[in-house]
Amino acid sequence: MILLHPVPCTLYPVFPMDKRDFLKTSATALTGCILSRMLPAQNAPPTHETGPRTNWAGNLTYSAPNLLEPGTVDELRAAVRTHRHLRALGSRHSFNAIADSPENQVSLHALNSIDLDAAGRTVTVGAGIRYGDLAPVIDARGFALHNLASLPHISVAGAIATATHGSGLHNGNLATAASAIEFVAANGDLVHLSRSADPEHFAGAAVHLGALGILTRVTLDVQPTYQVAQTVYLDLPFSVLEHHCEEVFASGYSVSLFTDWQQGRATQVWIKRRTDHTGTPATLGADFFGAHRATENMHPILGHSAEACTEQMGVPGPWYERLPHFKMNFTPSSGQELQTEYFVPFDRAYAAIRAVETLRDRITPHLFVTELRAIAADNLWMSMAHERRSLAIHFTWKPEWPQVRAILPQIEARLRPFEARPHWAKLFTVPPAQLDALYPRLADFKTLAARYDPDGKFRNPFLSTNLYGS
Ligand SMILES: Cc1cc2nc3c(=O)[nH]c(=O)nc-3n(C[C@H](O)[C@H](O)[C@H](O)COP(=O)(O)OP(=O)(O)OC[C@H]3O[C@@H](n4cnc5c(N)ncnc54)[C@H](O)[C@@H]3O)c2cc1C
Repeated sequence: MILLHPVPCTLYPVFPMDKRDFLKTSATALTGCILSRMLPAQNAPPTHETGPRTNWAGNLTYSAPNLLEPGTVDELRAAVRTHRHLRALGSRHSFNAIADSPENQVSLHALNSIDLDAAGRTVTVGAGIRYGDLAPVIDARGFALHNLASLPHISVAGAIATATHGSGLHNGNLATAASAIEFVAANGDLVHLSRSADPEHFAGAAVHLGALGILTRVTLDVQPTYQVAQTVYLDLPFSVLEHHCEEVFASGYSVSLFTDWQQGRATQVWIKRRTDHTGTPATLGADFFGAHRATENMHPILGHSAEACTEQMGVPGPWYERLPHFKMNFTPSSGQELQTEYFVPFDRAYAAIRAVETLRDRITPHLFVTELRAIAADNLWMSMAHERRSLAIHFTWKPEWPQVRAILPQIEARLRPFEARPHWAKLFTVPPAQLDALYPRLADFKTLAARYDPDGKFRNPFLSTNLYGS
C-alpha cells in the first residue's frame, strides 16, 4: 500500500504533508514493491511505474503500483489474460478508492475513437474519451447528448460506471444515454451488451462500477443539437420549496440550487433552459419566487471568480458550453476539495433538505458549497436513481478530511429515514449492510459480475467492502 495513512472502508485522508515531500519519501519505498509485482505478459503492453498517482482532487494516492497503457484492444485483452488484478482508470475524478487496484490500473486514453451514426442517432466512442472531447465533435455534425455533469473533463466510461449525473427533473443520469457497451471480461473475451438485444442484463451492466471488465467502447444516444441559455438568481428562501419544489426544479431543462446552509436559503439558483423548447424565453424575469436575478456571471462558491464558469446572463450557447457549470479549458470547481452526495426521493426533497439544515453550524465551516439537483428515475440496477426520481444533495467540502469524516455519519443519520443512497464516486461512511438494503438488484448485479469475472480479477478493496462486505 502506498497510502500515507490507510484508513478502513471507503475513506482516505487528504495529504497531511507537502506533496513534494510525499513524492520524494515514497519513491524509494515504491521501487522494491513494483519490481516484485511485475509479471511477464506476452503481447500485453509493458507495465509502467509512473510514481505515485493521485486522483484529481489529490486526496487519494492510488495503491496500485503499476499503470498499463494498452494502445489497442488486442493489447488490452492480452493484459487482462496475463494479470491477476486489474482496474480501469478513467480521468481520476472519483474521490474514493473505486478506481484503485491492489496491482494494476489500466488507462484507456489511447482508445479515443468517435464514430457517429447520424441515421441511427448514436455515437460510439472509445473508452478513453472525455465528454469535453466528444461534445464539440458531435455538435459540429448537428448532434447533442441529453445532459452533462457539472464538468466536461470526465471520461464517458468512468462517468457511466458511477451513475454520474447532471440535473433536470426529466433527465436521467449519464448512464441512461448508454445503449451499448463493449468490454474485455476476465478471460480476455470481448463482450458486447446492448439495451436492444438484452435489456434486462444491460440495465444491470450500464452502471458497471468497473466490476464487469474493462470497457473498450460505449454507444450513446444522441439527439439534434440544441442551445441553452443560463440565468442565475440569488437568495431563494428554502420555505419556497415546501410547496413549490416541483415548480422550482421544473423551471428549466436543468436546474441547480446552491447553498451554504445558512439563513434558510439557497444562495444561488442556476436555471438552464433549452431555447428550442416551445414557450421557453431565453431570459427570465427579474424575480423568481422571491429570489432576484444576478447582474453578472457567478461562481457557485461565493467570492470565487466566475472566469472558470460557463456563460450566464441568459446568453444562449451550445448545449455543451452551458449544461456543465465549468468550462473545459479551466480547472473546475475549487480544485482542492472533497465531495459527498446523497440521493433521496424527490417527493421528500423538502423534508430532507430541512433535515440536513439542522446540522448547518457544523457543516458550514468546512463547506465550500452544497448543490441540490433533480434526477429522473431509471431502471439501471446500481444507479442512485434506480426506480426513484431523486433529489441529489451534494457537498463540496474544504480539504479538511478529519472534520468532514466526523460530519458525514451525522448527515447520513439525518438522511437515513429518506433511504439516502450515496454517490458511488464520492466520500461516504454508510455501512455495507445499509447499502445492500438500498439496492434491490444488488444480488443480481453480483451474479452478473461473477459471470464475467468469476475470480474477482476486477474486484478491489472498495468493491469488496461496499458490495461484498455485509
Ligand atoms: C470537480 C468534480 C466535479 C464533479 N461533478 C460531478 C457531477 O456533476 N455529477 C456527478 O454525478 N459526479 C460528479 N463528479 C464525480 C465524477 O463524475 C465521477 O467520479 C466519475 O466517475 C469520474 O469519472 P472518471 O473518468 O474520472 O473515472 P475514475 O474516477 O477514474 O473511475 C471511476 C470508476 O470508473 C471505472 N472505469 C473508468 N474507466 C473504465 C473503463 N474503461 N472500464 C471499466 N471501468 C472503468 C473505474 O474503475 C472506477 O471504478 C465530479 C468530480 C469532480 C472531481
